[in-house]
Amino acid sequence: MTSGAGSPEQIATADVAVIPPIPGHESLSYAVPPVLEHRLREGMRVLVPLGRRRVTGIVVGRSRATPAVDLRPVLDVLDDDPLLSSDLLELCRFAATYYMSSLGEVLSTAVLAGLRAESRRTVRLAAHGPNTRLGSLEQEIVRHLPPERPVRVSTLARMVRSSGLHASLRSLAERGIVVLEEEPPVAAARARLERVYRLARHPTADELDTLARRAPAQRATLDRIREAGDRGVSSAVLPAADSAVRALAVRGLVTIERREVYRPVTEAAAALAPPSPTTAQKQAIDAVLAAASAARFETFLLRGVTGSGKTEVYLRAAEDVLARGGGVLMLVPEIGLTHALVAVVGARFGPSVALLHSALSPGERWDEWRRLARREARIAIGVRSAIFAPVPDLGLVIVDEEHDGAYKQEDGLRYNARDLAIVRARNASCPALLGSATPSIESHRATLTGRYRALELADRIERRPLPTVELVDLRIEPPEGTPRIFARRISDALADNWAAGGQSLVFLNRRGYANYLQCGVCGHVPGCPNCTVTLTFHLRSRLLRCHHCNYRLLAPDLCPECSGPTLRNFGVGTEQVEIALRAALPRARIARLDRDTTAKRGALRRLLDDWRERRIDVLVGTQMVTKGHDVPGVTLVAVVAADQVLNFPDFRAAERTFQMLAQVAGRAGRGDQPGRVLIQTYRPTHYALTAAAKHDFLELVDRELPQREALGYPPFSRLVNLRLDGVDSARVEELARALADALRSGVRLLPPSGAASVIGPAPAPLERLRGRYRWQILVKSKDPPTLRAVIRPALEAIERRARSRGVRVAVDVDPYGVL
Ligand code: ADP
Ligand code: ZN
Repeated sequence: MTSGAGSPEQIATADVAVIPPIPGHESLSYAVPPVLEHRLREGMRVLVPLGRRRVTGIVVGRSRATPAVDLRPVLDVLDDDPLLSSDLLELCRFAATYYMSSLGEVLSTAVLAGLRAESRRTVRLAAHGPNTRLGSLEQEIVRHLPPERPVRVSTLARMVRSSGLHASLRSLAERGIVVLEEEPPVAAARARLERVYRLARHPTADELDTLARRAPAQRATLDRIREAGDRGVSSAVLPAADSAVRALAVRGLVTIERREVYRPVTEAAAALAPPSPTTAQKQAIDAVLAAASAARFETFLLRGVTGSGKTEVYLRAAEDVLARGGGVLMLVPEIGLTHALVAVVGARFGPSVALLHSALSPGERWDEWRRLARREARIAIGVRSAIFAPVPDLGLVIVDEEHDGAYKQEDGLRYNARDLAIVRARNASCPALLGSATPSIESHRATLTGRYRALELADRIERRPLPTVELVDLRIEPPEGTPRIFARRISDALADNWAAGGQSLVFLNRRGYANYLQCGVCGHVPGCPNCTVTLTFHLRSRLLRCHHCNYRLLAPDLCPECSGPTLRNFGVGTEQVEIALRAALPRARIARLDRDTTAKRGALRRLLDDWRERRIDVLVGTQMVTKGHDVPGVTLVAVVAADQVLNFPDFRAAERTFQMLAQVAGRAGRGDQPGRVLIQTYRPTHYALTAAAKHDFLELVDRELPQREALGYPPFSRLVNLRLDGVDSARVEELARALADALRSGVRLLPPSGAASVIGPAPAPLERLRGRYRWQILVKSKDPPTLRAVIRPALEAIERRARSRGVRVAVDVDPYGVL
């Protein structure tokens, strides 16, 4: 039965984490049949029996053992190379422990999210027929296979009912009689690949002439495609040319090919030669490469003011690692908003780039994964979930805008990709490079304690000055006009900047027209029936909308309570700012960038292109405008309300305010003209604002660290937020109290060396969300293992009761944006 070494009773076994996971089982053991033994390695997907089903699983361990019970066999090995390298598997194990989840959960939610759990293997007859003798089972299999067409193995299994099916298929495949393949997952309906247009043949002079006279649109399109040469033109660049292209294809002049959206190589980006690094850039690059070439794990924090050229540091370091055969993983907060960066990476590294963003269909994501696993792509750029991408021979991990909250996953497995990036680099023995103009307080503190190495780019490229920042004290210079939005100084600056031909950015972190409606007589405010929030008024659609659950209601003319015609709107949103600006600057080209104006596919891309190419004079937007864009024409930035975030009940309120202001200010003066930034505030003396006005990150740190230390907040402690929710408020509260009691008894059992404290339970800041009542408990300690020692048993103690009462418990380790 067994082959190779080992005593006769020992058989090869595999520990398989099956997907979806079985609660309470990290993995299950299966026997490995000798035909599969030489192929099966850790990190591969396998097909295994589970009850009466066949499910996919990942091999997470192998051994030789003398099993106590009869083990069922692994049916098939689904990968030729491990899908998960050992460093990645190690990362998943870490994530399972650290985030108090399980390996199966991590694998299914983070790694295989969107990938098919059930295998879709297909089998077809090879082109040339069988020329060897077949066994009887093999004959039966071949009889069931139609010529040419592949059949799913699961379908075949229903016709050929034999436990030897998979082994026989494998043997037939090895002799070249059948071909086993994996059917790619069906692309989700809304995902579309980009089309690429290329010249099929050169048009004759006659044809060009005729087109110019009879079909000028086709002629113009054809000229674009001719100019592009081999690279072709993507449908994203020629969005409106659909019918023209199709007509050209019918004429046999143009070919249309589908390709993944990941090669957003804009013509301009491809043409640019990389600049030679400045001295400061070179120092940073060298430091990272010294670690990379020594295969040494080290974490670098690159702090570079906005416009200092951090991207070039990432690219040079990546280039070197790739040149020496290593793989690179680069994380960005959002693809849509960092499109320029993605385009540059695409232009620099071409087809060896795999792009992993959240709008990929499962099929597209799967394709990118396989390209990485097969080493066709060696640099992955993507959003937080890309931290689990199978980058081969990982030699460098880069996290751009490391402070960004988008790295934190807020449901399912609540992980922070920035933090996991460091763990992954450690597992792979390579450097991690975190970059930001406004690093998180946690990362900065790590440079003070020596855990990370600080790198700095102190100046903007070409010594361009940072913009001047003025704080406009609304107590002294109140908003004027109707509606009252801007202080006079700001309205004047916007008018002047438009007259001077500059572009202006107006930032307000609230979309919609008005914050809420209120009745002037009875005081009633329409609220969401599912969430404890007021409904936001949108003028154009005349809807009241909940920005949490998307509840919508046609805005009533009369107060629903007292029927008075007295509903008025309060608070300003981006829609209202846009309308007010149109009235104030009737001839300026004004546009709005927020989630409402970018809901349609391609809309974000178009807005950003128009902004970059100066087809927009004034752009109003939410925090979407604060990130990443490098638009040289922007000379004025106006912040309508700096205090919104500052007044949040969150210990990171000052840090987040500083980050937001510094980032939005950083959009100004990136070209030849210097920039000016005006910030409206009622708290002009708060250090978050004064530090932002001086571009002084260290002033923020000096004020912030002592406070965090005094209150025992991160980075001086670790927090875990336990959130409970359910539709019955009494049951949620009851469970929250029981959990808090269990936690407190756990804390009392701790040795004196490990201390932890329990805060709460208390209703969550948003007490009701999507119809569910929410409570939370905070656990605090300096030591992660202590947190686990307290929390795991407490959760187990209430688990059954919670389930029977319909209360969900979520564990949020290192929460972001609470309190
Ligand atoms: P950051 O990410 O730090 O805000 P960017 O990477 O966007 O800054 O760089 C700002 C601008 O400077 C970009 O237009 C970039 O092309 C340019 N740049 C970067 N490095 C150099 C260099 N060494 N020489 C000239 N221009 C550079
Ligand atoms: Zn709601």
